Amino acid sequence: MDLYEYQARDLFEKHGVPVTDGIIVETAEDAYEAAKKIGGTVVVKAQVKTGGRGKAGGVKLGKDAEEAKALAKEILGMDIKGHTVRRVLIVPAVDIKEEYYFSVLMDRSNRRLLSMCSKEGGMEIEVLAKERPEALAQVPVASSGIDAEVANKILIEAGFDNSDKEKLQPVLQKLWDVYRKEDATLVEVNPLIQTSDGQMLAIDGKVTLDDNARFRHPEHGELVDPYTEDPLEAKAKAKGLNYVKLDGEVGIIGNGAGLVMSTLDVVAYAGEEYQVKPANFLDIGGGASAQVMADGLSIVLGDEQVKSVFVNIFGGITACDEVANGVLEALKMLGDKATKPLVVRLDGNAVEQGRTILEQANNPLVTMVETMDDGAAEAARRAAGVDAEGREQLGVTETKADRGSSDEGCGCGCGCK
Ligand code: GDP
Ligand code: MN
Repeated sequence: MDLYEYQARDLFEKHGVPVTDGIIVETAEDAYEAAKKIGGTVVVKAQVKTGGRGKAGGVKLGKDAEEAKALAKEILGMDIKGHTVRRVLIVPAVDIKEEYYFSVLMDRSNRRLLSMCSKEGGMEIEVLAKERPEALAQVPVASSGIDAEVANKILIEAGFDNSDKEKLQPVLQKLWDVYRKEDATLVEVNPLIQTSDGQMLAIDGKVTLDDNARFRHPEHGELVDPYTEDPLEAKAKAKGLNYVKLDGEVGIIGNGAGLVMSTLDVVAYAGEEYQVKPANFLDIGGGASAQVMADGLSIVLGDEQVKSVFVNIFGGITACDEVANGVLEALKMLGDKATKPLVVRLDGNAVEQGRTILEQANNPLVTMVETMDDGAAEAARRAAGVDAEGREQLGVTETKADRGSSDEGCGCGCGCK
């Protein structure tokens, strides 16, 4: 989970990283009150989970409360790279002498932790890394973390002189505390500044928390933003299901993360011909009771983009006859809400019984297939609205031909032509 700047700022404060006091507000009137309380010149900062807010006009200095109010009015509601600004952070403006950069992150491709540090902060780090790589120190960090010695090494690599090094060393160590103690995968400060009177301050912060460590931090639950969380993902989480929304038309339900991931691959492959893609990842885990299947189906069908659903089950501990009954029960429970074709592939434990149950039920929505590849192809065809012979199916107006031949792209939402 990525945090907003104000949330990162709170975590910095908690671990002793020097920050300025800030007040988060949702209206221009509250921005006025906040600025009055802070006094003097303030900075009005758009809270969106994307960088480059300054460049986009989302970070502005107001010399008094009146001006802060006008700026907040301008910034609230603004769209920054597709993110709507719903809140602004009001902080006292500081006198910046120098802007530095510091981050610690999980360097996945090299399977290690990495810290990056530069005397030339403020600009986008990707640009700095490309244009002046020699100005960006990159120092691997052992799992023991950043103690005084490691901090010193990083700061020397980045070219800081002795007096700055001394002041920055404890700041780096505290930022490491944020990384380790909060179970983050990224802590980035850009810029970390030095004021004209020699104080070091983190005036921006980007923190990504490791969702897999959430169980260790019940308090992080409060940081989840109802605005940015996908509503279907939130619903799935509430039901204890592992669902990730993607941007395609073929809904996917499977048991076991590995099976679901391979299902995504075969559907993506089969879907190329029909210009359809997987709509989601959904692992219903072991068991696959009627209730779990109904929960899963209702989430997948809740995605308006979904045109067909591929249920891919390999019975291990879970028996296929239970799953077959689960599918039928789920369709009954969903009633009118179940309208999309369902392609079901069962294999493994009690497969014969499972298939017999589905055959006998003869539900018009359900098509049974024997293999995963057949299932992927069938589900892709159904999503594209064509039958096995390539004929357009009744009731589906958008065909493969419509999608493929237009100048507006393939219709998959990817922007391709
Ligand atoms: P970003 O553009 O999303 O990275 O947002 P930042 O919080 O980093 O702010 C962008 C830029 O605004 C910073 O690099 C600073 O140059 C400037 N800025 C932010 N706060 C202050 C402040 O208190 N005083 C001054 N003078 N400039 C500031
Ligand atoms: Mn920044």
